[in-house]
Amino acid sequence: MGKITGFLEYERLSEAAEAPAKRLKHWREFVVRLDNDAAAIQGARCMDCGVPFCNSACPVNNIIPDWNDLVYRSQWREALDVLHSTNNFPEFTGRICPAPCEAACTLNINAAPVGIKSIEHAIIDRGWEEGWVGAQRATHKTGKKVAVVGSGPAGLAAAQQLARAGHAVTVFEKNDRVGGLLRYGIPDFKLDKHQIDRRVAQMQDEGVDFQTSTYIGDAAEGEAYAATLNHGLTILTPAELEAGFDAVLLTGGAEAPRDLPIPGRELQGVHFAMDFLRQQNKVVAGDRLKDQILATGKHVVVIGGGDTGSDCVGTSNRHGAKSVTQIELMPQPPEEEDKPLVWPYWPLKLRTSSSHEEGVQRDWAITTKAFEGRGGKVGKLLCVRVEWAKDEATGQMRMREVEGSEFELKADLVLFAMGFVSPESKVLEAFGVERDPRGNARANTDDYRTNRDKIFAAGDMRRGQSLVVWAIREGRQAARSVDAYLMGESRLPR
Ligand SMILES: Cc1cc2nc3c(=O)[nH]c(=O)nc-3n(C[C@H](O)[C@H](O)[C@H](O)COP(=O)(O)OP(=O)(O)OC[C@H]3O[C@@H](n4cnc5c(N)ncnc54)[C@H](O)[C@@H]3O)c2cc1C
Ligand code: SF4
Repeated sequence: MGKITGFLEYERLSEAAEAPAKRLKHWREFVVRLDNDAAAIQGARCMDCGVPFCNSACPVNNIIPDWNDLVYRSQWREALDVLHSTNNFPEFTGRICPAPCEAACTLNINAAPVGIKSIEHAIIDRGWEEGWVGAQRATHKTGKKVAVVGSGPAGLAAAQQLARAGHAVTVFEKNDRVGGLLRYGIPDFKLDKHQIDRRVAQMQDEGVDFQTSTYIGDAAEGEAYAATLNHGLTILTPAELEAGFDAVLLTGGAEAPRDLPIPGRELQGVHFAMDFLRQQNKVVAGDRLKDQILATGKHVVVIGGGDTGSDCVGTSNRHGAKSVTQIELMPQPPEEEDKPLVWPYWPLKLRTSSSHEEGVQRDWAITTKAFEGRGGKVGKLLCVRVEWAKDEATGQMRMREVEGSEFELKADLVLFAMGFVSPESKVLEAFGVERDPRGNARANTDDYRTNRDKIFAAGDMRRGQSLVVWAIREGRQAARSVDAYLMGESRLPR
């Protein structure tokens, strides 16, 4: 334990951030990590609990009390080793994880939790700056070949683990750049893409081969997809992959967005959030796009109250939207959770992101009945307020429209951020992989094996839409299972 009385002496210190008016003028990250001394003091707040709830709440089971203590004692390099022992990419989670560990921290029962995420951020960024993060090349090669389909955090984590176990790993990615939703989805102001590039360079140094602009699946589907792109695409079928590799891991994400098929859906200006966000990522990366979806000078309505919606708010404000409104079907959650009731679990409460702080009107318990407009362009939403009540017969919450509560919302741009229903079915069909009732690849978390021999699945493609940290966990665990399948045993950690 760092300092026995640390939690009594020191307050939690949050990371500083550039003021909204300033950061809205650019696309760069704006959160400033704690300096070494501040991080050490935050580490001193950790009580090194006998039962560290932070550790079990963390999907990758980060050994949090140990690195808190090491940072307090200025043993940064050792702290980095402990951090890397459970997490391949702490620079991603240290920036964009919602930090379930902090909700579970014992201090959170009656005080502010340890700033675990800010300490993680400080450790990994210092590690890169000091040159402590280098390639860990396998000392022997197994002669086995593994294909990883999809280069999001699940695919990247799995590929890195498998390469370090000595396998020849090729990552296939249909996009023109590596990273999955880290690259095309999460805005640059939350995660600078340089963070992905330097990991990719490290992995290439460790022997991982990346094949971008390569679609894996049925040839006709691949050609249909290629027709939507402005760059070339290589198409490889499952049969080709199965013939060329000893194992195949599917980490293609959950890319099918939830739609709202109501009158007016076809109007111009009604888009899926991902089309809007992906385009902006590409523009920041230096691509020139024809007909970019822009919020500039528009009244924007974002439908959906989650992370994706919040990213649309931040992006719209950076475009210079006239107004940004975010609406949600569910009722407004409480500002504060009932801690004794919910701790150490992830609480349902009102979350205000940095994008919300930059300017938005938020409203809850609203359903949209139709879009209307002129000349084929959207102009407004027809909405109605709803109430949620428990159905006595089934015990389930049911929604009811409130009579006479109809209203209109002005909108020149409508963005759907209502989540994702499942992976794109075609890829799983092409591999003959069975799906669970939610449409995800059917595989358990013991071995991540699908119904097809030598085909494995992990990340959002297996568990459904989730978090980066869960994708990293699944990638690591699936890598261990693939390694054991190929070698009869595995020394990779779960
Ligand atoms: C807008 C947005 C913001 C988010 N913000 C956060 C956040 O702040 N914090 C957080 O923890 N999580 C966040 N998430 C969730 C997080 O990004 C995902 O849970 C995570 O990226 C899933 O990782 P994955 O590797 O399973 O899949 P993905 O990241 O989706 O990667 C899958 C990759 O597979 C590729 N692929 C699919 N099919 C094929 C094919 N047939 N051939 C070749 N390649 C293929 C895709 O192109 C993609 O690159 C956010 C999600 C979105 C959409
Ligand atoms: S729960 Fe909080 S105080 Fe306890 S070990 Fe984890 S970070 Fe430290």
